Amino acid sequence: MFDFTDRDLKEPHGIRMIGAPFDGTVSFRPGARFGPAAIRDASDGVESYSPYLDAELEAVHYADSGDLELPMGNVETVLSIIREAVDDCLNDNAVPFLLGGEHLASLPAIEAVHEKYPNLVVIQLDAHADQRDDYLGVELSHACVMRRVSEFLGDENIRQLGIRSGTKYEYDLMKGFGTLTTFKEEDLDELVEWVADRPVYLTVDLDVFDPAYLPGTGTPEPGGIDWWTFQRFIKAMTDVDIVGLDVVELAPQLDSSACSSVLAAKCVREMLLVAAK
Ligand code: MN
Ligand code: MN
Repeated sequence: MFDFTDRDLKEPHGIRMIGAPFDGTVSFRPGARFGPAAIRDASDGVESYSPYLDAELEAVHYADSGDLELPMGNVETVLSIIREAVDDCLNDNAVPFLLGGEHLASLPAIEAVHEKYPNLVVIQLDAHADQRDDYLGVELSHACVMRRVSEFLGDENIRQLGIRSGTKYEYDLMKGFGTLTTFKEEDLDELVEWVADRPVYLTVDLDVFDPAYLPGTGTPEPGGIDWWTFQRFIKAMTDVDIVGLDVVELAPQLDSSACSSVLAAKCVREMLLVAAK
């Protein structure tokens, strides 16, 4: 059992959790604004010890800065508030761990981390490509977030896992850039080799999981991964240097069993542990 809110920002900490309860651009079912609170709530039922990583969360110095206050209707202001919080975190030499919120919340976080680490690479877990130039004419949308990231990071510095939904245009782009990869053992080995000693931002859109395991998300997509696949991925990440991370797109009220929130909290535990290594 662990409770993020036990941790005080004044204590020295290596990882800072930042809640970004924003779902202003979601294309289908809203509700991701309730994600951070649901993850904290569900964490009460999750052990602090990970048998998979043989690691104890109590030994990790992390803090929770709570949820940002975000004006839902003003996307640019929301993004600038998130950016400022992540900048503050980086200035305090802590690793930012964003709790979404929808996937567009990752954009200012990745921008800020990239400014500190110019040779940053991004690893995206997601059902969706998020590589559209625009969605219904809007460029700042959760459906376009990785396209926006690509524009300043370069497509060669992004790898995408779990993608199973996108337009033909997006698939042509991703195949051309070679950003797509899989969770096969040999591909995870190759991914770690590709990262080498470069700093990594890990963005986990929870709809990468199959809706059977995580129905509580705005844009569910059949054909997703299970817990064990995620676990193998996380284990592979123990060998890379994670300098920023997020978990996004949990829409807790879409799963009346609350199991989606528990799964999300367990992901957060594993990610905290692997980022602290
Ligand atoms: Mn996404
Ligand atoms: Mn997605």
